[in-house]
Amino acid sequence: MTVQLGIPILRATGNKQAPAPRPSGLPQALVDRFGRQATDMRLSVTDKCNLRCTYCMPADGLQWLPKQAVMTAGEIQRIVGIGVERLGVRELRLTGGEPLVRPDLVEIIAGLRKHHPRLPISMTTNGVGLAQQAQALKDAGLTRINVSLDSLHDETFTQLTRRPFLTKVLAGVEEARAAGLGPVKINAVLMRGINDQEAPALLAWALDRNVELRFIEQMPLDAQHGWTKREMISALEIRTLLSTDFVLERDRQLRDGAPAERFEVRRRNASTAEATGAVLGTVGIIASVTEPFCGDCRRTRVTAEGKIMSCLFSREEFDLLGLLRSGAHDDELVDRWQDAMWAKPKAHGMDHAGLGTAGFVQPERSMSAIGG
Ligand code: SAM
Ligand code: SF4
Repeated sequence: MTVQLGIPILRATGNKQAPAPRPSGLPQALVDRFGRQATDMRLSVTDKCNLRCTYCMPADGLQWLPKQAVMTAGEIQRIVGIGVERLGVRELRLTGGEPLVRPDLVEIIAGLRKHHPRLPISMTTNGVGLAQQAQALKDAGLTRINVSLDSLHDETFTQLTRRPFLTKVLAGVEEARAAGLGPVKINAVLMRGINDQEAPALLAWALDRNVELRFIEQMPLDAQHGWTKREMISALEIRTLLSTDFVLERDRQLRDGAPAERFEVRRRNASTAEATGAVLGTVGIIASVTEPFCGDCRRTRVTAEGKIMSCLFSREEFDLLGLLRSGAHDDELVDRWQDAMWAKPKAHGMDHAGLGTAGFVQPERSMSAIGG
């Protein structure tokens, strides 16, 4: 059954065989059938956004959730508390939609920090309102920040995000660095024929500022379902694009569940094509489509309306907020969250997308409605 509630929500359906029930006697942790344990929680504080990135949202027409459907600050505190104190969550990333459009964001972070003094709390933002809020976020207890930035050219930025806010984002990055929200990471999605040729310039810009750039392969999570594998810029292509100016060497440090594969970066000597000079910094590539890392996934996701998604591509959602609002005890919430993670699929199957196999069906939700 599909229920239209602002955004499409696909309930757990019979579209595939239900996993065997979770056995009793397992540790109180977010473990799944394949032995993975989720310790990294991504929590969306809103589905609203002030940009309209082409790979994420349609130009218009995506209805926001009604206010009463979205988790309140108190509900977020309770859910994070259960994750951290009962289920082994060790780090929290706030996301959206655009988290900075939520008016009580600073209070939410301050409350989380008060109850969890040592929890790493990061946030992913488009940076539009960041210049004004960076210091307040730091003071409230935010640990560090990821800013999304796909182009340094006004026109291209506006084409990609459908809003003319590049100057605001650049100011946001500077304020975040000044406020001590480091290491600041920059997320960039390359789109063929739009900003793909800008990859080396983006990297040079990031290295100059000592911020870590991470390229993310475009995933089929756009609201308009326009993604095609052929159009996507793959990790291999990203490395080739960068090789005009740089030499990349795989960072030998343990990846430890991190989605990005990291490379040390040195300048390329134009005549010899050899690396020259010292290491300038690192670059990350998140190859979710062509080199998936599902086997080492440690993420559990909570959408803005309190649904647990075990994977970005889950077609099953477990309603934690509804249960919480019905007056459930913490033990029941623990149970439901564990059930949700037990059902986590082995892999998303995205590497088969667009190849005509039956391994992958794009979820109804767009990235903005999940929380990336
Ligand atoms: N609005 C904030 C932002 O843009 O940073 C936070 C939410 S956004 C959904 C989180 C991240 O997902 C961003 O870095 C964005 O570039 C990325 N993203 C969105 N849609 C994507 C897609 N279809 N494929 C890959 N990354 C995507
Ligand atoms: Fe908004 Fe982030 Fe999606 Fe862009 S990627 S439309 S900023 S939620």
